[in-house]
Amino acid sequence: MGIVVAKFGGTSLADATQFRKVKNILLADENRMYVVPSAPGRRDSDDVKVTDMLYSCHKLAQEQKLSEFEQVFQMLSERYLEIIEELELGLDFKPHLEQVHYSILHGASVDYAASRGEYLNGIILAAYLGWQFIDAAEVIFFDASGKFDSERTNEVLSARLAGTRYAVIPGFYGSNPDGSIKTFSRGGSDVTGAIVARAAGAELYENWTDVSGFLMADPRIVKRPKRIHVITYRELRELSYMGAGVLHEDAIFPVRMAGIPINIRNTNEPENAGTMIVRADESHVRGAITGIAGKKGFTAIAIEKNMMNSELGFGRRVLEALEECNVSFEHMPSGIDTMTVLVSDSNIAGRIDEVVEKIRRACKPDHIEVISGLSLVATVGRGMVRYPGTAARVFGALADSGINIRMIDQGSSEINIIAGVESADFERAVNAIYNAFMK
Ligand code: ADP
Ligand code: ASP
Ligand code: MG
Repeated sequence: MGIVVAKFGGTSLADATQFRKVKNILLADENRMYVVPSAPGRRDSDDVKVTDMLYSCHKLAQEQKLSEFEQVFQMLSERYLEIIEELELGLDFKPHLEQVHYSILHGASVDYAASRGEYLNGIILAAYLGWQFIDAAEVIFFDASGKFDSERTNEVLSARLAGTRYAVIPGFYGSNPDGSIKTFSRGGSDVTGAIVARAAGAELYENWTDVSGFLMADPRIVKRPKRIHVITYRELRELSYMGAGVLHEDAIFPVRMAGIPINIRNTNEPENAGTMIVRADESHVRGAITGIAGKKGFTAIAIEKNMMNSELGFGRRVLEALEECNVSFEHMPSGIDTMTVLVSDSNIAGRIDEVVEKIRRACKPDHIEVISGLSLVATVGRGMVRYPGTAARVFGALADSGINIRMIDQGSSEINIIAGVESADFERAVNAIYNAFMK
């Protein structure tokens, strides 16, 4: 077996007990050479993630609410100090905490503040394991436009890893060309893990979390969904983009490029094989789907015009109107005389009227309607291309449950059927589809 990169999520490193489990997992296989930790997460459902505390601290410092700032900072310091004490590390952590405290109070950026969750946790984990600590700011880079610079990162990081066995690289952040800190979006330690796996030339990227793999549906919506044993990168990308929160949607790119499989595992149940995410897999069952995911918070702009299809440039004009308002779209199902553009609420907030007016002026439609309060439910499966009947089953299940389908889109990937439903029906829709395929 070659090199294994192991990323541990926030709940996996939430306290000293979890740290012990992580150490046991790492020491059980000498191929696990590089570890990417998240910041301490929730210990129970009422708890607060350290990253969230850091965002609060930054906000409170900006607003000069100093006593509240001190309170939250104290709480997050205790999270770390407790871990150090319980693990009997004898690590002098005060200077690190003081540095973070000082910087946040003296104008450090929000990204710097947020990134300290993993930075500090990485220092503790490295001390606990006796492994080297590599600051992600020295090896993960963003370019001047704020985009992740994969080439520079891969060059510097692979050189650094080639000379370093057994190291801890904190997740979630890297640095800008001027050396300042920049984070990925929330959940971004998954992305760091994938980047490290690629740079290390790993044979496997293990992503350790608090569920025993990728489940067929969000366990908060469907009761005890079945585990997915094997899933392809493409299916996973569709599911995670559509809200299956286990893995950050951008974590697939670096490993897919290098053909490194991802294994989702449970820190609290290490004997479970979890889910393997691979390039291709032929072993699917006829008529089966891989998983269901969905998101709330969409608005549809439905446009109708007779003979739309023969009007040259109609679609372009609609999309131009969106572009001029700086709104991107998620889906665009169309019929002969109709076209619907689906946008996320967060994207179009406060600009709906402007967009509609622009479309009206540019396209002169017969009718234009805004439908808000929509959710999207995606049913994903690599077997769909080959076997007929999946769509019928999805829509049949929704109809049998009395759920009104407001939009359908299959896209060109042919591994994903998307149904737009009213948000009040969202959870019922996911359950209806899940049950239809479990029979
Ligand atoms: P970590 O902190 O380890 O990165 P996350 O909270 O980001 O963990 O992701 C794991 C969580 O994702 C699970 O606890 C579960 O509630 C949620 N989740 C959403 N959809 C799914 C799914 N399809 N399969 C498994 N877990 C899911
Ligand atoms: N700690 C960061 C967050 O809460 C990154 C991560 O957990 O992956 O978003
Ligand atoms: Mg996560």
